[in-house]
Amino acid sequence: MRHAVTLCAVTDFNQQLTAELSALREADLLRELRRVESAAGTRANIGGRELLNFSSNDYLGLAQHPALKEAAVKAVEKFGAGSGASRLVCGSLAVHHELEEALAAFKGTEAALTFSTGFSAAQGAIVALLRKGDILIVDKLVHACIVDAAKLCGAKLRVFRHNDLNDLEAKLKWAGKQGAVSGQRSARILVVTESVFSMDGGLAPLRDIVELKERHGAWLMVDEAHATGLFGAQRSGLVEEFELTGRVEIQMATLGKAVGAAGGAICGSRKLVDLLVNRARSFIFSTAPVPAAAAAARAGLAIIQSQEGETRRQRLWRFVEELKRVLIGAGFPPSAVRAPIVPVVVGAEARAVVLSAALREAGVFVPAIRFPTVARGAARLRFTVSAEHTAEDLATLADALSEIGNRKSEIGNA
Ligand SMILES: *Cc1c(COP(=O)(O)O)cnc(C)c1O
Repeated sequence: MRHAVTLCAVTDFNQQLTAELSALREADLLRELRRVESAAGTRANIGGRELLNFSSNDYLGLAQHPALKEAAVKAVEKFGAGSGASRLVCGSLAVHHELEEALAAFKGTEAALTFSTGFSAAQGAIVALLRKGDILIVDKLVHACIVDAAKLCGAKLRVFRHNDLNDLEAKLKWAGKQGAVSGQRSARILVVTESVFSMDGGLAPLRDIVELKERHGAWLMVDEAHATGLFGAQRSGLVEEFELTGRVEIQMATLGKAVGAAGGAICGSRKLVDLLVNRARSFIFSTAPVPAAAAAARAGLAIIQSQEGETRRQRLWRFVEELKRVLIGAGFPPSAVRAPIVPVVVGAEARAVVLSAALREAGVFVPAIRFPTVARGAARLRFTVSAEHTAEDLATLADALSEIGNRKSEIGNA
């Protein structure tokens, strides 16, 4: 009898989820995992076929680099497969400290703190710094981890139009008129932007943003997920390139993109890191990252800072230019970008899905990026290149695109 009741409840649960998934499918918004059978470099074996991959964020091709693999293997041998506990319990292994020292030196900050992911780094930092009554002002296009952190921390959230300095200033003026937090300290105002926008490839006007936040007594957090390894003389990011290192309170990075490993980092003053160790819940209540990830990230940083890093970056920029030329030549003009993220905005979700499927058919993997990652009706193909691509790869892409261009009537109004 009890068993029957339970079954009935589970059936209802699954029926509700089925309805929700069907609605997503009807709106061309259903997402499914594609199993990749081999290491995903510039080639990926998906569904039994080898596809040319233009979707990875491994911009410098370090994820498959022998030095990173070797560092990971050595760390496993020395420290084991797992970290055993959170950093504050007994998981604060030497590899994590070495990585953090390397990160602080790389970013030009006093200190750094690493997290298991960039997502949890953003969440940890924002929730540690802000609470109810404080004010968070974010660019319209910031990553989901910032948006979720905004909800979690309880601060008042204001969103400024993408890269719009006038709108940011209006929000800062409004924020300056808000009162103190529950009778104690005055309200904190934190501005958050990405430096290179992840789905868009555009850059933030960081110099102007820094001037504005200073004029209005606000703090700034810059998410350098897609800039770390790619910009600046030391390749540490756009904050370095714009010579703003000492003026940005919180620099955030991910270790899973150009750095080639996994993890997230917050770089800044020693006091910031001391506070995060005490207040960042995603740091305190989570098992330390595996030793292999930390060691691989440190090896990735060493390569980025070496001559090889510069050679890889130059190669990457050449392919970015070549990719843009190929896309324009094939009648798929990309957005204007200065990043290895080259989106072709196609509008309707269904169209992005059909084009992505047609490219897959032609042997090329390019993901259709749709709501909620981008706005509704602004679906796009997001091409990324890597320093490991070759001129032949781009020629193959050009062929695939022209094949699709010739089949436009079949594929739908393109
Ligand atoms: C990928 C990404 C993150 C999250 O980093 P992970 O290490 O993948 O969790 C944060 N912000 C931006 C802009 C990103 O693109």
